[in-house]
Amino acid sequence: MGRLDGRVALISGGARGQGATEARRFVAEGAKVVIGDVLVDEGEAVAHELGDDCVFVTLDVTSEANWQEAVNETVEAYGGLTVLVNNAGILGGFNPLVRTPLDDFMRVVTINLAGTFLGMKTAVPAMRESGGGAIVNISSTAGMWGVPFGAAYTASKFGVRGITKTAALEFGRYGIRVNSVHPGGVLTPMTAEVGDDGNSDYYRRIPAGRIGTPDDISNVVLFLASDESAYCTGAEFLVDGGMQAGDIALLPPPRS
Ligand code: NAD
Repeated sequence: MGRLDGRVALISGGARGQGATEARRFVAEGAKVVIGDVLVDEGEAVAHELGDDCVFVTLDVTSEANWQEAVNETVEAYGGLTVLVNNAGILGGFNPLVRTPLDDFMRVVTINLAGTFLGMKTAVPAMRESGGGAIVNISSTAGMWGVPFGAAYTASKFGVRGITKTAALEFGRYGIRVNSVHPGGVLTPMTAEVGDDGNSDYYRRIPAGRIGTPDDISNVVLFLASDESAYCTGAEFLVDGGMQAGDIALLPPPRS
């Protein structure tokens, strides 16, 4: 028996990185999965790999019409919708706040935060029709504390954390749970694009001693999508190797 038997999931940004790993894991656990992304070739390749249990749809998360089409196609393909993972996101580069153009700020906030809002807005009516389910919103450790030179990303991910709590309050009565996941550094194309290969001293200084993997995150997303987390809603789940616990460099040397 799979942990997601009978579930139908829609995962935004599922063409690569964490979203693609979640799609593979969900299918392995018995779910039907629709992945939506702006990367058509990569998305179709993931869907092809997963066969009849996965469909790719072109989805720009900033478009309400695109979201509605993705939800409709999910219901048409698999007869309902019970899990939404708002995973699509961009980093948007690092800039001092005073030199961040408004257009750049708005682009990051529109994709990361408005995209999550639109995902919930369009998916929840179909999830209610399907008898309820679970929403997992991918925020970041940047939704827990400030990141220098990342004003837009930090604002967007704090927003995702906040809207998750509002949604949990509103949707509980429909049997829909809503939680946010806050990854630390994870080795994906996003980190590769900014030259982070996980080999810096920074990761050696966190308690886990390494960068995260997409599997580390999908383990937690799977838990939150399944009934194993039936009593969790409106909560935030740090998956950061202990980064938030403090600075390991401040430890006194061991006595023996
Ligand atoms: P990634 O760049 O590999 O994947 C992000 C996916 O989102 C891509 O497939 C991309 O095409 C898609 N996407 C971007 N804009 C889109 C749009 N407008 N519409 C639809 N899809 C769009 O990065 P990832 O690391 O897998 O990131 C997944 C999520 O995890 C993101 O929300 C990211 O902010 C978050 N996150 C990542 C890290 C990290 O270190 N990698 C850390 C914390 C949080």
